[in-house]
Amino acid sequence: MSSMQYPPSFYAASANAAPPRPALQGEIETDVCIIGAGYTGLSSALFLLERGFSVCVLEAAKVGFGASGRNGGQIVNSYSRDLDVIERSVGAEQARLLGDMAFEGARIIRERVTRYGINCDLKNGGVFAAITAKQLKHLESQQRLWERYGHTQLELMDQARIRQVVDCDQYVGGLLDVSGGHIHPLNLALGEAAAVESLGGRIHEQSPAIRIERGPSPVVHTAHGKVRAKFVIVAGNAYLGELVPELAAKSMPCGTQVIATEPLGEELARRLLPQDYCVEDCNYLLDYYRLTADKRLIFGGGVVYGARDPANIEAIIRPKMLKAFPQLAQVKIDYAWTGNFLLTLSRLPQMGRLGDNIYYSQGCSGHGVTYTHLAGKVLAEALSGQAERFDAFADLPHYPFPGGRALGAPLTQLGAWYYSLRDRLGF
Ligand SMILES: Cc1cc2nc3c(=O)[nH]c(=O)nc-3n(C[C@H](O)[C@H](O)[C@H](O)COP(=O)(O)OP(=O)(O)OC[C@H]3O[C@@H](n4cnc5c(N)ncnc54)[C@H](O)[C@@H]3O)c2cc1C
Repeated sequence: MSSMQYPPSFYAASANAAPPRPALQGEIETDVCIIGAGYTGLSSALFLLERGFSVCVLEAAKVGFGASGRNGGQIVNSYSRDLDVIERSVGAEQARLLGDMAFEGARIIRERVTRYGINCDLKNGGVFAAITAKQLKHLESQQRLWERYGHTQLELMDQARIRQVVDCDQYVGGLLDVSGGHIHPLNLALGEAAAVESLGGRIHEQSPAIRIERGPSPVVHTAHGKVRAKFVIVAGNAYLGELVPELAAKSMPCGTQVIATEPLGEELARRLLPQDYCVEDCNYLLDYYRLTADKRLIFGGGVVYGARDPANIEAIIRPKMLKAFPQLAQVKIDYAWTGNFLLTLSRLPQMGRLGDNIYYSQGCSGHGVTYTHLAGKVLAEALSGQAERFDAFADLPHYPFPGGRALGAPLTQLGAWYYSLRDRLGF
């Protein structure tokens, strides 16, 4: 089988050196076999190793090959669904647990970066930017809601204040989260993989799991080997395919696209984003951007449902960038790439257990950098017998996409069209 390499992104071009990680050959035994070396798999592996479990991670391609090595790099707290929606759909105690955890993922990332000396250009501060007065009102209510759960670090910004942090005249205000921020996402994944190995964990690349033999001690099969484990964690997210049919039924892979400009130079970069915060707007189909360490603008947006690759990513994303920053009209685009995230109907993540010993977490519907790190911790707690926080996620209601994945793509596309109309008309 031919080996699967990183797509040609800015991140692959600026990745820190990593050792070769040979494919699995033969049979091994371990406490936990993890399928997928994105943030979910790597964070789970780290927390489990720190608790004394032995761990083997199987990765179909390379560490961070999926969304974790391609994303916008924005450390965005909370979930892809507002806490008041969660409060209305679950009981008070479950909502309290989920609300308390809403900002924990960013703390975990910072703790990992410090403890394991990960070089991933970590920067502090993220902005939610409102394009309409209605969006600003919504941010105000979000701030009050988050404050009820003790997250008091957020600053509401009016039009004059937001112009001090981003040189874009589209915004009427915003919310600054100093506990948010940004990272080089692939280098974070590579650093976490090195940390896993430093604690004795094994990672096999080019080793897709092709079958899970379920039972009291499950066996995960690859083309040339197998792993017998006490527990399995399925962390393949949008790249999992049909390996676990129960998981495929309730989720939809979606493609989203990112571009990176040529380096802008210190002066222009400082004019655009003086404090080097990352920004996402409040549209349903949102645009998001930030600077890299070498002062490029990374700009993402747009969703192609059903995970197709668009013929020309630059043609889709560059006009969005120029709408926000017309001053970049002469700037060249050096890289353009696409990646898949996993959408759920409720836009809330799916965490749970199949039988006694197969755990999973997936589907954070766009905002996954922080949630996946939290998920690793919560899964490790559950495997250690402390399931209170795991249950808070596992008890969230989830529904299949009408018609399954084949029909679901056109339906969600229709949904996307509706929401983009809402964004444009401001209702
Ligand atoms: C372009 C893009 C931009 C984004 N921007 C942001 C952002 O700025 N901020 C934010 O919070 N979120 C963002 N997201 C979402 C975020 O990146 C994801 O939610 C998160 O990285 C998911 O991590 P994961 O580990 O669950 O999945 P992934 O990172 O996709 O990892 C899954 C891994 O499993 C492997 N795998 C799959 N099947 C198998 C198998 N059978 N055997 C072995 N291995 C397997 C895959 O190869 C892959 O490496 C973005 C996503 C994309 C695609």
